[in-house]
Amino acid sequence: MKSHVQVCVIGGGVVGCSVLYHLTKLGWADVVLLERSELTSGSTWHAAGGFHTLNGDTNMAALQGYTIKLYRELEALTGMSCGLHHVGGVTLADTPERMDMLKAERAKHRYMGLETEVLSPKEIQDIAPVTNVEGVLGGLYDPLDGHLDPAGTTHAYAKGARMNGAKIELHTLVTATNQRVDGGWEIVTDKGVIIAEHLVNAGGLWAREVGAMAGVYLPLHPMEHQYVVTDEIAEIYDRDTEHPHVMDPGGESYLRQEGRGLCIGFYEQACKPWAVDGTPWDFGHELLPDNLDKISDSIEFAYKRFPVLEKAGVKTVIHGPFTFAPDGNPLVGPVPGLRNYWSACGVMAGFSQGGGVGLTLAQWMIDGEPERDVFALDVARFGSWTTPGYTLPKVIENYQKRFSVSYPNEELPAARPFRTTPAYDIQKEMGAVFGQQFGLEVANYFARGEEPRYETPSFRRSNAFEATGREVKAVREAVGINEVQNFGKFSVRGHRARPWLDRIMAGRIPAPGRISLTPMLSPKGRLIGDLTVSCIAADEFQLTASYGYQAVHERWLRDNLDDGISLENISDQRTGFQIAGPRARDVLDAVTRDDVSGENFRFMDVKRMTVGMCDCIVQRVSYTGDLGYEIYSDPMSQRALWQTLWTEGQKHGMQPFGMRAMMSLRLDKFFGSWLSEFSPDYTPGETGMDRFIAFNKDADFIGRGAVEAERQMGASRGLVVFEVDALDADVVGYEPVWINDEVKGFCTSGGYSHYAEKSIALALVDVNCLMDDLQAEIEILGHMRPAKRITRMLFDSDAHRMRG
Ligand SMILES: Cc1cc2nc3c(=O)[nH]c(=O)nc-3n(C[C@H](O)[C@H](O)[C@H](O)COP(=O)(O)OP(=O)(O)OC[C@H]3O[C@@H](n4cnc5c(N)ncnc54)[C@H](O)[C@@H]3O)c2cc1C
Repeated sequence: MKSHVQVCVIGGGVVGCSVLYHLTKLGWADVVLLERSELTSGSTWHAAGGFHTLNGDTNMAALQGYTIKLYRELEALTGMSCGLHHVGGVTLADTPERMDMLKAERAKHRYMGLETEVLSPKEIQDIAPVTNVEGVLGGLYDPLDGHLDPAGTTHAYAKGARMNGAKIELHTLVTATNQRVDGGWEIVTDKGVIIAEHLVNAGGLWAREVGAMAGVYLPLHPMEHQYVVTDEIAEIYDRDTEHPHVMDPGGESYLRQEGRGLCIGFYEQACKPWAVDGTPWDFGHELLPDNLDKISDSIEFAYKRFPVLEKAGVKTVIHGPFTFAPDGNPLVGPVPGLRNYWSACGVMAGFSQGGGVGLTLAQWMIDGEPERDVFALDVARFGSWTTPGYTLPKVIENYQKRFSVSYPNEELPAARPFRTTPAYDIQKEMGAVFGQQFGLEVANYFARGEEPRYETPSFRRSNAFEATGREVKAVREAVGINEVQNFGKFSVRGHRARPWLDRIMAGRIPAPGRISLTPMLSPKGRLIGDLTVSCIAADEFQLTASYGYQAVHERWLRDNLDDGISLENISDQRTGFQIAGPRARDVLDAVTRDDVSGENFRFMDVKRMTVGMCDCIVQRVSYTGDLGYEIYSDPMSQRALWQTLWTEGQKHGMQPFGMRAMMSLRLDKFFGSWLSEFSPDYTPGETGMDRFIAFNKDADFIGRGAVEAERQMGASRGLVVFEVDALDADVVGYEPVWINDEVKGFCTSGGYSHYAEKSIALALVDVNCLMDDLQAEIEILGHMRPAKRITRMLFDSDAHRMRG
């Protein structure tokens, strides 16, 4: 065994082997994989081997598409068979809501280049004749669906990696991992010690235990899972071609041909977590005892959907565990708080996702950034607040909802409420209907009187529509109040703070007492943040950005920190409220002794002031696009701050407003939002964020070369705003934009402007189509809706109110 390597991968399941393969493919050959037993000794050997591209997250779906297309390449390279069966698959819809979901998926696939197709019940019956289509409204066919040989595929990855120089040490158990002062890792095994510059945790079923060796808690948990293989079935072996996969979400089952019979697996409601107190080290080559009782309801349902099953004998039952993260997506990337420690865990669909996970991690390690936005799988999308007590109920929920319809406005209930601010009870008392961001309860809107305290999950306008309209009106006509806890906030201090910020941020760093908006760029010039920088004093700044993205931002800021700078994540230490609307100044003026007149407290000013009894930092900005103030206090005084603002606000018609209203209000001003218009998938030139770049500043900011090149070349697409002639569903994101019968772009987000009473879409469109009078069609839930470009903001287009 080598004593020093560049990378040590722990775990020889499909994921570890894919990471190893991709590291060597991208050029790092001094890599070793340690496996405590034989390859595939965790979940991998249990797998049914099915693969598919469908995933609620578009980039995850793209990575799944990459994984599936990789198998042929792997076979050609290694001469080994992955046992591929590209038979195609159809996902059934037995409710209008599920049909909506499939149509929305189909629409996304149009610009992703995936050739999926919506089928009628008759067409489903024709291609998948074992299906009883009674009650089925239609389905989505994906020609890429199929299955493979899990062991053969894992060994093909391993061979590919070895051919490129990687070493694999079998029967080598890692017992400890210790961070070295030089940032590398000492990896202690039962065969000796290896020193590695980088460590990858691909421990699968044991990833929790491997993480704990470095003092890390990785939020994942194993669940038991079962599938049944039948004896021979004449309707199957009499066919000339292999039967396609059939996913029946209504019955929570997936079905495919296995030899001359069928194989069917279930995501049952009566599911069971496995190894709650930790995965035993001696587990690996055994199955869990059959438990057909647990799936008896699902089997009953399956007999109706696939009647041939009722007569078929059971040949084998496979019952094994595999791991899930709280939201079902993998946990990939640099683990916050540790140097050179990489996660490749929580992969619940190793044969759909393993290739994409390997590629992403290898790009991240070698190039410094993955080629696309990978927030959906970034290990930092969960914060240090996650615990086993949180993860377990979320993982159970995720398993049970694996085949449920996912709605864009859905708020999942498990493990809530968890993290709340002091204002939570006050808001609840006022009828708040909460959502959840990064574990935090956030008011989405306020129900009144008899209105239900629950938003119906829907692809169409929900029952929150009226309340949202009411809140928008209160902001635009008087004054609204909304909590500002849900921003990620950082305090940056030190005499070198300004030059450091000038290097980290592409925009202008403001003078004391002023605020600026600035993009933060990756070295390749992609957007990794849109931040508000407030200069509170010469050597003290507050950075404000996305709450849900705070751990990703913190990791980046710390990785790029200079000596002598103090950086503190104060997201949960600085809380408060924003007030917005034409009467906002009157409210603030009445509760502070400071002069807040337009001349003395200008748009984009920041000041420390006493508000009521509370010491606050007040910023004159508002995402509502109206006259507004963000008023931050410490959490201990948040309730007092509320009393002050609310009591005074009553004289001015103040109403509370939530996130739904905020997202409608921002549309009036065409404001983009993080991870919709602005994300690592896009560049400043494409999204108009280049107007915030200080190209003339005397600082070599990160990404400078790339954005200067983009400025010279011009971007290939641009962000535009459409008014859509929508029916009862507005744009959510990723709907294709058709221009002259061709898909020329896609929506980044949208919604309903209650102020202008218009359905609005923001979209990235081919730069050659960017004329002012552009007419297009946007495909919403299978309907082509006419859309016309608008260039004049719907509210306060001269910014008179916002800046006045
Ligand atoms: C019944 C069942 C059916 C499934 N069907 C499908 C399917 O159809 N399609 C699909 O895509 N997925 C399916 N899966 C899920 C799939 O099996 C997993 O997504 C995949 O195997 C995860 O692979 P992994 O490499 O992350 O983890 P694992 O396979 O668990 O591999 C981890 C490896 O790390 C090694 N290891 C751990 N700790 C150490 C240590 N300290 N030192 C050295 N080595 C260590 C282990 O021995 C093991 O080999 C199924 C799972 C089950 C249980």
